[in-house]
Amino acid sequence: MFHKPYSFFLVILLSSLSWLQCSPSDSSSTSGSNAFSPEISASDIYSHIEFLASDSLQGRESGTEFEALASNYIIQKFEEFGVQPKGDDGTFLQAFTINTARLINPHATDNAEGERRVANNVVGWIPGRSNTNEYVVIGAHYDHLGYGSFGSLYRGDTPRIHNGADDNASGTAGLLELAHYFSEHPPADNILLLAFSGEEMGLLGSAHYVEEPTVGLSQAKAMINLDMIGRMSDTNLLIFGVGTTPKWSELAMAVNEDSLSLNLVKDGTGASDHTSFYYKNIPVLHYFTDTHSDYHRPSDDLAYIEVEGQELVVNHVARMVDALGSVSKDELPFVEAPGEQRQSMTLSGPTLGVLPDYGFEGVGMRITGTNPGQPAQNAGLKSGDIIVALGDTPLEDIYGYMGALNTLEVGQKTTITIIRDGVEQTLELQL
Ligand SMILES: [Zn+2]
Repeated sequence: MFHKPYSFFLVILLSSLSWLQCSPSDSSSTSGSNAFSPEISASDIYSHIEFLASDSLQGRESGTEFEALASNYIIQKFEEFGVQPKGDDGTFLQAFTINTARLINPHATDNAEGERRVANNVVGWIPGRSNTNEYVVIGAHYDHLGYGSFGSLYRGDTPRIHNGADDNASGTAGLLELAHYFSEHPPADNILLLAFSGEEMGLLGSAHYVEEPTVGLSQAKAMINLDMIGRMSDTNLLIFGVGTTPKWSELAMAVNEDSLSLNLVKDGTGASDHTSFYYKNIPVLHYFTDTHSDYHRPSDDLAYIEVEGQELVVNHVARMVDALGSVSKDELPFVEAPGEQRQSMTLSGPTLGVLPDYGFEGVGMRITGTNPGQPAQNAGLKSGDIIVALGDTPLEDIYGYMGALNTLEVGQKTTITIIRDGVEQTLELQL
């Protein structure tokens, strides 16, 4: 997921550390053998993430030899599974140029002085059963932050490898599992598989793809993005984008055979690659198992991936793709659902240091954690608290919270009103 400087994601900080008690799957990964199952399996997911998030890939920074190690792995698997190339000139790769000036200043133009690097998307195709030229896009970015010279929330003095196991080796593993599954069990629709690079530098790979698509975008029924799907320790799954066509919610519920607790969020834009397709008027979904304290830090490692949970997430996606086969493109009209407030919301005022619960739909803003030493924790806030007012300003939702914060000053004393275990209480708050 792309970390927008000064944006909403700055307020995401430590949540509970309870998952530290959970051990990774006791997968009997047999590296060296190519015994991947055509079914979607936790052990295959583990193997893919184990490779992609290993130190030898040094954080998969776009436009480096380590990005190439990752793209070679994806291509090798696509070839093993029988996926067809759909990139430049009959290959799996689609090259684009990155101007690294943008890493220092995200608003830099392409003409700005900076090192130019070539990065690559990986593009594959699986023909569907029915005789149609329509297709469903499944996408996941495979790049990450390298040593964290940009986009990192790590503040240590020594640069460290950011393995990005959840962000987004998990989604890449999901893409590979779906590639294998649909190669063996073709759905009605054609499938376009897109592994993006340049995501962490600002959705660059997907932005390039939609400007120079290798298959006409007008035939795309929908785009499904997998970004950070490896941390489902319970059954809570967030799906963004359900407002982008009326049928999404119904379909998401209809294929929910594993009875996951679905948090369906309307917004079609966000800090990941589905946004590029949304702006081309294509219905989108973004599967997401929520953020965590290792987000954009060196500690986003394999040890914390919930492979059993991810198997359930990827199976939900597979059933969704199959279900789309019995829905015509006309039945999936694009509807605007930009999540404008979230998109344009910038923090100019103080921060509280809380982790918002994106799935919460009640009045106020529920939090799933606080950042040590920050105002919210100093005031005594805890995971599960619902913030309903800042000073005298009542908060309807997460956007109201951001708006209210922007009217306050760093250093100011005010109050914060919360609901904890059903009881409203007002606490002193030092910003
Ligand atoms: Zn990210």
